[in-house]
Amino acid sequence: MSETVPIEFQTPSPKGEMPKGEMIDPFGRAVTYLRVSVTDRCDFRCTYCMAEHMTFLPKKDLLSLEELDRVCRAFMRKGVRKLRLTGGEPLVRRNIMTLIRSLGAEVKAGNLDELTLTTNGSQLTRFADELYEAGVRRINVSLDTLDPEKFAKITRWGRLDQVMKGLEAARRAGLQIKINTVALKGENEDEIPALIDWAHGEGFDITLIETMPLGDIDGDRTDQYLPLSKVRERLESRWTLSDIPYKTGGPARYVEVKETGGRLGFITPLTHNFCESCNRVRLTCTGQLFMCLGQDDDKDLREAVRASEGDEVLEAAIDEAISRKPKGHDFIIDRKRQAPAVKRHMSMTGG
Ligand code: SAM
Ligand code: SF4
Repeated sequence: MSETVPIEFQTPSPKGEMPKGEMIDPFGRAVTYLRVSVTDRCDFRCTYCMAEHMTFLPKKDLLSLEELDRVCRAFMRKGVRKLRLTGGEPLVRRNIMTLIRSLGAEVKAGNLDELTLTTNGSQLTRFADELYEAGVRRINVSLDTLDPEKFAKITRWGRLDQVMKGLEAARRAGLQIKINTVALKGENEDEIPALIDWAHGEGFDITLIETMPLGDIDGDRTDQYLPLSKVRERLESRWTLSDIPYKTGGPARYVEVKETGGRLGFITPLTHNFCESCNRVRLTCTGQLFMCLGQDDDKDLREAVRASEGDEVLEAAIDEAISRKPKGHDFIIDRKRQAPAVKRHMSMTGG
């Protein structure tokens, strides 16, 4: 990808000197978590996420890495304590480590609790050590099957061995790993217990996710949708699952699997709406801020960030957006409603 190499990033604010604001939405929820999709591009084409032939955004529309850094810092001044970089595949964005190092310095300075990443794992052999050095401690790696052929079918362009090597590199680097698995009817549903067993054996947490109706894909989502209530029922006939209060700041509800001793999360946007405790907003790589993953309302922060060198316009735009954060989403997957609930793909808003 051609993009000018970032020239200058801000130096970290001295410890404790970053002003601490607070963003409270109209429903009394504090917004402390920002997810940033740093690119809509990806080296995989997972069937539930993208169509095989995608038209990606023109590069000129993207925020530069410096602009992304500026927006993240504006959010930190307003009370964001946790940042997750996602995509598309965040590690395919050119020079992404420059941004990660810059934001990681804020974790080291105590101005941010956590900088983390959601990745498909394909680039981890190259980046794992650098991520750790930059201040990243935990990553989410998406993996839906341990069968190489099935993996190639689900991801269309991915190779399982590449991801396995990436996981090994991440572990060696000292990164804590959580596996994200989308539950896919007829594709990996029989393999879910084996995936949990494997993840816990490796010392990884694992979270199961329901498919969400985001963006047009080549197939029919009703064919893929597997309610996690059903999965949980089946798992309970095999294992003892005990609810635990463990939280990572995300929407997953966790159980401990007594027999494996590991943690298992469920993200259930369809069977159990989790909006009441939503603490996050999402920024796309073009600077659109989505106040809810499941709604179309957004705020253009690109215009705000480019309006002036100072951050007043940007901060005012953020305040205005938060005052419009909706109560929640309304996902439905059924055959009568063929169009996705929201038109944009998950790779645009980030998972
Ligand atoms: N490429 C990275 C990856 O796959 O981890 C980061 C971006 S990806 C969009 C983030 C997460 O969203 C992945 O765990 C992926 O499985 C999940 N995802 C993508 N499309 C989804 C959909 N329609 N419903 C539910 N999860 C989805
Ligand atoms: Fe790429 Fe992640 Fe979407 Fe798969 S889920 S196509 S790896 S962005």
